[in-house]
Amino acid sequence: MKEEVSFEAVKEIFTDYLKEHKHRKTPERYAILERINAFEGHFNAEVLYNIMLKDYRVSLATVYNTLELLLDCKLIIKHQLGGQFAQYEKAFGNNTHNHLICTSCGKVKEFTDKQLRISIQSRKFAHFYSTHYTLYLYGLCHKCKAKLKNTES
Ligand SMILES: [Zn+2]
Ligand SMILES: [Zn+2]
Repeated sequence: MKEEVSFEAVKEIFTDYLKEHKHRKTPERYAILERINAFEGHFNAEVLYNIMLKDYRVSLATVYNTLELLLDCKLIIKHQLGGQFAQYEKAFGNNTHNHLICTSCGKVKEFTDKQLRISIQSRKFAHFYSTHYTLYLYGLCHKCKAKLKNTES
């Protein structure tokens, strides 16, 4: 299924995309991609912005703008989870994992399951070739579950 992609290859995809769509190849955009590459797990724009600020001067608008570009060329995934902030994660070099989503606060946890992975990856479909997958399980996180209990009693 998902093959390992080097960061050089990832940058090349981004460069090709920027050229093709006549966007400027600014150092800020590559710096943002680099931080995303180094980041494990999910992040939102604010989190990424704060990581950038440690050693790079960008505006929050540039972060949002670059996230849109990276989404468009499919280097990152956006999770629509109904929380306050959209959450992103890189679409390259990530291990296959699934998501537990709290329907109350939008918090996401990841989990992997070898048995699930084997059964999904060995599944054959007529006229369809799967490349990767993720599962979303919805429910309540520990905190929200506890809150619910308190309001009930
Ligand atoms: Zn929650
Ligand atoms: Zn994830």
